[in-house]
Amino acid sequence: MFLEAGPCAPLFEPMEKILFDSHTHLNNDTLTEEERAVQAQEIEDSQVKYICDIGFDMPSSRLAVEHANKYPWCYAVVGMHPHDSKDMTEEGMEELRRMSEDPKVVAIGEIGLDFHYDLSPRDDQRYWFRRQIRLANELAMPIVVHSREADRECMDILIEEGAFSDERKKLFADGTPHVDIHCYSGSAEFSKEYHKLGAVLGVDGPLTYKNNRKTVEVVETVPIESLLIETDAPYLTPVPFRGKQNKSQYVEYVARKIAEIKGLTYEEVAEITLNNAKKFYGID
Ligand SMILES: [Zn+2]
Repeated sequence: MFLEAGPCAPLFEPMEKILFDSHTHLNNDTLTEEERAVQAQEIEDSQVKYICDIGFDMPSSRLAVEHANKYPWCYAVVGMHPHDSKDMTEEGMEELRRMSEDPKVVAIGEIGLDFHYDLSPRDDQRYWFRRQIRLANELAMPIVVHSREADRECMDILIEEGAFSDERKKLFADGTPHVDIHCYSGSAEFSKEYHKLGAVLGVDGPLTYKNNRKTVEVVETVPIESLLIETDAPYLTPVPFRGKQNKSQYVEYVARKIAEIKGLTYEEVAEITLNNAKKFYGID
């Protein structure tokens, strides 16, 4: 056994790859090319096995596809965020359709409603949210949803557009609708409704914040099989790095907090959520 201790043995055991950062933005335009390369190397040296680089407009969607083709551990999600829906066009829809043909593009997102910032007129947000749900249905692809201060309307639109319909569920081998409410910020009560519909909920850094009882209750309420862990990097940095730039490897702290709440070990949470994300995105 050449790995046995001896003069040629490696100094460190190879890092065990047990985490899936199901929602991150290596494609974020606040990062320079150089910073992205450094982060990619850090991911390779960490416990993170996979990431999903999530598009939020056309350039970031293209970049996510580029990253997915460059890094074997990276998958891409393409779509137009509600913040930028005022700039969405028919050409953009066609381009999303074309991009989705790439085998490493695994979902449409992040799409939805954001009535907190209202950076696009609400009618534009609603219109392109609906159109992109229809596209995902047509392409039989998972949907990554961004919903902020628009809980009820967001759910209503998803239901109206068939995101939880039996027809859609039949598109997937496991018979679930493959809808992820990323960075879920609603109540525990409301999370039960999403759970009943078959959605999975994304949990990130804010779970670790001291006064965030609400998200702790959500984690207590929803079975672990329906949770995805994510960073939403470079935003929402978990404790103990809060205040600094977020990175994919910090998804570990989200898993640790879930373990504490659910009475599981960190390794159990890592393994279960890794499998949840693989199943959600259809990655073998
Ligand atoms: Zn995001």
